[in-house]
Amino acid sequence: MRTQVGIVGAGPAGLMLSQLLHLAGIESIVLEARARREIEATVRAGVLEQGTVDLLDSIGLGVRLHREGFVHHGIELRYDGRGHRIDLSAHAGGKAITVYAQHEVIKDLVAARLACGGRIVFGAAGVEPRGFDTDAPSLHYSADGVAQVLACDFIAGCDGYHGVCRSAVPQGACHEFSRSYPFGWFGILAEAAPSSAELVYTHHPRGFALVSTRSPTIQRLYFQCDPHENVDAWDDARIWSELRARLATRDGWAPVEGPVLQKNVVGMRSFVCEPMQFGRLYLAGDAAHIVPPTGAKGLNLAIADVRMLAAALAEHYRSGNGPRLAAYSSTALRRVWKAQRFSWFMTSLLHRFPGATAYEQRLQLADLDYVTGSDAAQSSLAENYVGLPFEDATC
Ligand SMILES: Cc1cc2nc3c(=O)[nH]c(=O)nc-3n(C[C@H](O)[C@H](O)[C@H](O)COP(=O)(O)OP(=O)(O)OC[C@H]3O[C@@H](n4cnc5c(N)ncnc54)[C@H](O)[C@@H]3O)c2cc1C
Repeated sequence: MRTQVGIVGAGPAGLMLSQLLHLAGIESIVLEARARREIEATVRAGVLEQGTVDLLDSIGLGVRLHREGFVHHGIELRYDGRGHRIDLSAHAGGKAITVYAQHEVIKDLVAARLACGGRIVFGAAGVEPRGFDTDAPSLHYSADGVAQVLACDFIAGCDGYHGVCRSAVPQGACHEFSRSYPFGWFGILAEAAPSSAELVYTHHPRGFALVSTRSPTIQRLYFQCDPHENVDAWDDARIWSELRARLATRDGWAPVEGPVLQKNVVGMRSFVCEPMQFGRLYLAGDAAHIVPPTGAKGLNLAIADVRMLAAALAEHYRSGNGPRLAAYSSTALRRVWKAQRFSWFMTSLLHRFPGATAYEQRLQLADLDYVTGSDAAQSSLAENYVGLPFEDATC
């Protein structure tokens, strides 16, 4: 088999890249380790930046998103029992965020790829990128127990943090920067009406909590926990009691409760691999970088990467020359590091850090007081939260 771009991973990065390449007249094949029903059912991100929504609109994938998603023009920062609304749109030139679950984006992208005759190999086992330091890279894998080789011009490693593409890079060629946080997020999906019209980010002496929504009947809530917390030790009553304690306001606000449908613990890590390209292998999305979910940047960064990569590959195939392709890693990393900074800022602002001194705790409250009281600070938060502008508007 042969294609122009061999893509590993059918997450948001791989699927969006494949669709953008198709629209630019470039062939690709996506190799995905899991089954279609699995990738379409994995609950993860839910906040789409304005630029992500605009891109989905521009390729005709905004219909269900606009029908079923929720546009939010603000978020609430809550601490000391009081809520403070940050008006995102007022501070960011009218831009907003849309709450639309990642697995719904995945469903829309898979349907679009298949409708265009795109090829996604689900259940591809033992994928191995080879020869990306030559002019003839290839992907070796097996499908239904039969060994296969996919020859291609370029490989896009969109296979997430635990994928094989980054680890195929020879040691020493990749510089890794990372930070682990001493806590995780206990996430639940609950069958209940929305507790709030907008997302609520809460700082509390017991730890951070977040109220978000998925639909008029399904809600997503999180609270800070030990990274090794045992979810089975938490029944519904204990979960809601903890959320009530952290989210309570002085005027008696309480979350709307309902049966917990799913619960899991998410680790909090920051990670960047530099560079993001090695010969003819290009990394995008979580394969190259991850952020703690506090800034809601992971999915959006993955989409921003492939937007740049698709434009660079299109230029390469059009002109036979690829200044953008050569600059892909350095261009992408500028946005990546700004998202790292913002995610670190939101995480530091809102979480309880074990071992923090009384002085550090006072500084954190001063930071919250500053952000919620200063127009300049709110503009900075809003600009980052709705998504920084793309450097190259023609991408
Ligand atoms: C609880 C949680 C909440 C989050 N909230 C937000 C949010 O609100 N906003 C936001 O922007 N981001 C959020 N994120 C982050 C976001 O989900 C990720 O950044 C995003 O999924 C990255 O997309 P990706 O395509 O790069 O990687 P992935 O989504 O990880 O996709 C990689 C794909 O590659 C496949 N794969 C892996 N290895 C192989 C292999 N060897 N061979 C073939 N296929 C392989 C995997 O099965 C997977 O389908 C959140 C994450 C979590 C966990």
